[in-house]
Amino acid sequence: MARALILSLALLAAWVSQATAGMVTLVFDDGLRGVHQYALPILRPLGLAGVAAVIVEPLESGNADYMTVAQVRELQASGWEIASHGLSHRRITDIPARYASEAVSRWRADPTAPGMVQAYTPHQQVACVLQGELRLAPEPSLALASRRPGSYFFDRITGELHVNPQSPGADGEIRLCSYEREMAESRQRLEALGLHASSYVVPYNYVNDDVIELGRRHYARMAAGYDGDGLNRGADPHRIVRSVVHAGQPAQELIELVQREVRGQDAWLVLCLHDVGSGLGWEPWPAGELKAFAAWLRDNGIDVVTLAQGAERMARGQAKAAR
Ligand SMILES: [Zn+2]
Repeated sequence: MARALILSLALLAAWVSQATAGMVTLVFDDGLRGVHQYALPILRPLGLAGVAAVIVEPLESGNADYMTVAQVRELQASGWEIASHGLSHRRITDIPARYASEAVSRWRADPTAPGMVQAYTPHQQVACVLQGELRLAPEPSLALASRRPGSYFFDRITGELHVNPQSPGADGEIRLCSYEREMAESRQRLEALGLHASSYVVPYNYVNDDVIELGRRHYARMAAGYDGDGLNRGADPHRIVRSVVHAGQPAQELIELVQREVRGQDAWLVLCLHDVGSGLGWEPWPAGELKAFAAWLRDNGIDVVTLAQGAERMARGQAKAAR
């Protein structure tokens, strides 16, 4: 009995000491198609999995630059973590921050067409417009919006939002979609597609106090990227720091960083990548660089974890330190 106890204590100690002995996470932002086409076939044979932070609207719309739902499901089935990267990839400062600030005041008649209304909005962008539960269709001009009930035109120059309501006289129920909605609804819509997103990856890596607070409310963990070493040593799951991998950055530079700062240490390197191999989007990384880096990680026994796994191990390491 005593021997069994000693043995299990020894196992527990080994388990705790390995908790954070240097981990690397590969997060691929935006959901571009090269992630399925190139990153998955590179990582899978090595027994490694990444994190795909997907934007819901291009995923749902079937935009050919982005992965299909079936491809994202295949990543998930291969052990990848699927994270939300928002509905439309907006910054919190460009749209209303919270549900409570979605209402628009001071509507007035828009003379362009009968039943149309307009109002000034102080926001830089319009992510979407709701009339009750109905999502209105964006139009690229006032003339087009005037011909289509249930649509809107946002004039970025004047800041005027022109709405052709689905049913007239209902301007009081017209709202602008908030960042909080981007966060909460993206998760629900991914879930409806069978994709289980419990982590949020912040678009543009743009974080302020509101983003942190909303992240705590709607997700188990949250990651944002900064230039720098991108090393996590703390255990706050809503302040996971990432390091951006740039298009021209050689794998060797990352290998040296892992050797110097991560391997065998209580440190977690979370990388912010985008597309791989296809050259799409912002800062695409060549497939050959990913292949070299991933093979080195595998050959050197570096733990490659998802955000969920990494945060869980950091919390375990922190519990050990507190004892
Ligand atoms: Zn992004």
